[in-house]
Amino acid sequence: MKIVILDGYTENPGDLSWEEFEKLGEVMVYDRTPAEKIAERIQDAHAVITNKTPISAEVFDACPSIRYVGVLATGYNVVDVAEAKKRGIIVSNIPAYGTAAVAQMTFALLFEVCHHVGAHSMAVKNGDWSKNADWCFWNYPLIELAGKNMGIIGFGRIGQSVGKIAAAFGMKVFAYDEFRNEEGRKIGEYISLERLFKESDVISLHCPLLPSTQGIINKENIAKMKEGVIIINTSRGPLIIEKDLAEALRSKKVYAAACDVVSTEPILEDNPLLGCYNSILTPHIAWAPKESRQRLMDIAVENTEAFIAGKPVNVVNP
Ligand code: NAD
Repeated sequence: MKIVILDGYTENPGDLSWEEFEKLGEVMVYDRTPAEKIAERIQDAHAVITNKTPISAEVFDACPSIRYVGVLATGYNVVDVAEAKKRGIIVSNIPAYGTAAVAQMTFALLFEVCHHVGAHSMAVKNGDWSKNADWCFWNYPLIELAGKNMGIIGFGRIGQSVGKIAAAFGMKVFAYDEFRNEEGRKIGEYISLERLFKESDVISLHCPLLPSTQGIINKENIAKMKEGVIIINTSRGPLIIEKDLAEALRSKKVYAAACDVVSTEPILEDNPLLGCYNSILTPHIAWAPKESRQRLMDIAVENTEAFIAGKPVNVVNP
């Protein structure tokens, strides 16, 4: 079995090992693969492992030996799954590996808005505390979450995990999801999207990017929100119309927005959120603690093993 890993660097920048893959066959690992090299690198491989490198119909045409594509992520829109299906090629993904990590990052972002820990530490190291007249000072308003309303859009694995943490901090949890379940009812109150916009102090996005959710944070919906709402996005950048959010941040209608994901990644230099003093932006790191990348690696190996054994799992194009 020849296995080609096209863009392994973000999954394993050197702190994990590919050795479990190497037990499955002859493995070639590339850190990154530019579009013009995809077919050349796959050559006659049977299994292709990709994270964000696109696998199109043209790639399938150029590399007829491909029998399996393993996606090193949950989202598999980088693969033309319909074309794969037509050709009998199995495509698998990693359905859940980073629920705890993404929920934790959601709160890292929210706490940064509430306490500006990084900026305060920097101020102390700059000598501002040593020179201060009083025994303490703060450069930003400090916010207590207890008693505030947390509105969660998309109450699935990550959304519910965020809901549990919010409840532990004494927040009232509101959720909007097209599919309601018993587990969710134990954590928070399902309400309409309109009510969630109107009543939430913090809105956190955890729904997938779909035609129905693209641009869900837009001018019209921001107008329905509370003055001074906080918006957190650890899901997908295009859920937000960034120029509308930037305008609302400048007018202070939105107190702060903290986003781990943006519409185009890496972020474009003219992304309107870069220029807002009250935005916090991180480079799509919610998924990336070593523990969750190890889990991702383990599941990717299991997926490939299962394919080799003729009993594929986590298949997205059955
Ligand atoms: P999940 O499938 O368990 O939950 C998604 C929830 O969204 C489901 O309950 C679903 O019913 C709901 N939903 C679907 N359409 C909706 C709509 N129109 N309106 C409201 N809710 C809707 O997925 P998950 O594991 O919780 O992941 C959620 C998202 O987090 C993923 O789609 C992905 O975009 C994102 N994610 C980001 C990172 C990161 O590194 N930043 C890592 C992993 C996942």
